[in-house]
Amino acid sequence: MHPDRYYWMSDIYPTGAMDGYIRTALDRAHVVRDLYRRVSNVQHPDTWHPVLVICEQCGKVGTTIVTRWDGERVYYECRANLVTWAAGCGHSGWVAPFGGRAKLPWNLEWAAQWSLFGVTIEPCGKDLATAGGSRDRSDAIAREVFEREPPINVAYEFLNIGGRKMSTSKGRGAAAHRIVEVIPPEQLRTLFIRPRPNHAIEFDPEGTDAIPRLFDEFDKLADATAGRPVKGELAPGFESVFRYALRDAGADVAAEAAAFRPNFGHLAFLAQVPGADIPARMADEKGAPLDAHERAILDERLAAARAWLESYAPDRARMAVRETTPEEAGALDDEQRAFLGALAGAVVPGPDHDGAASGPAGGDAWQTAIFATAAGLGLPPGRAFAALYLAFLGRPNGPRAGWLLAGLEPAFVARRLREVAAPDATMGPAGGAA
Ligand SMILES: [Zn+2]
Repeated sequence: MHPDRYYWMSDIYPTGAMDGYIRTALDRAHVVRDLYRRVSNVQHPDTWHPVLVICEQCGKVGTTIVTRWDGERVYYECRANLVTWAAGCGHSGWVAPFGGRAKLPWNLEWAAQWSLFGVTIEPCGKDLATAGGSRDRSDAIAREVFEREPPINVAYEFLNIGGRKMSTSKGRGAAAHRIVEVIPPEQLRTLFIRPRPNHAIEFDPEGTDAIPRLFDEFDKLADATAGRPVKGELAPGFESVFRYALRDAGADVAAEAAAFRPNFGHLAFLAQVPGADIPARMADEKGAPLDAHERAILDERLAAARAWLESYAPDRARMAVRETTPEEAGALDDEQRAFLGALAGAVVPGPDHDGAASGPAGGDAWQTAIFATAAGLGLPPGRAFAALYLAFLGRPNGPRAGWLLAGLEPAFVARRLREVAAPDATMGPAGGAA
């Protein structure tokens, strides 16, 4: 039934790592019998004990039944008629069931593994996840016998990718494989465990912002867990979802929540800016150098962003900032030009280093400046954003403009804004912060 797991576990038992769980299961045999009755309507005799001894005489394991436990040894019988598929040899005796001489029945073994390996999420096929089924039994065993909350249950059959079931057995394996190259483990876990009761997980990354939104959702969970303000609604239990999404079950949740995480959309943009010093920009945004963990997060996200741009990203996310003023910017009207000129005022000469220009700190600050400047001139935001996209990308749409501007050199931004705002006045040398 689970051959891979069985053979692999057979290496674990001789190490003694399972001994504590075997002892607990035997001490609480009455609890196990009771929950089998309750959860699965399986009635074992009152002498039944939840451990399978390997017969010392014939070596079989499925033919033995343990009927007594004295705290150190079990009494077992290798019965001829216990199961239909094998005949026991009739041997009986006392043996210490440790160090590989016995194993736990499947449901107990499964629950014990959750504790042994610190499992916090266990994808589970629908066949095991039915009411009263194997998973329910192991959940009950985890709680009542091993006194541990079972992992979050995920029926992975319900994950639909682009409206079709994701499955490695139905020709969609390639897609499933590709998706894990773009989505790191913590965001993939978020996809599975975010609260969507009784709903299939609809996830359509092809040509959409589904993957950036998944990162944003994870970051929102982190923000909320860290007590930072978040926009929009928060599902109840967000702290648990964040905790379970973390790759390391023993992680310091507060430290993880507090860590600086770069916005995925911003990174996807920066990844396309030639020569952008991304770690330096991220340090600016954080307001301090990134620590080693944050640097690792950045590297992982940058790789994911590049993979996304090469695979699933919609065309509008792929863009190139024009090195010279785009011809298309000639279509802008006077109001839009006035807006760009006013926005150039948001970029001020920096007081403390080399007289270089500095802009609003980060994408959000730029976004705020854009809205405020447009509002001050009575220009609808849509036309303000179109002006920015035409001025920098040569097209009327693009990614979040605040992030776009935050990703560029402030001096370059100021120069371009002024050039487009007053095309006849700025044909001279670059950099005039008039
Ligand atoms: Zn035997």
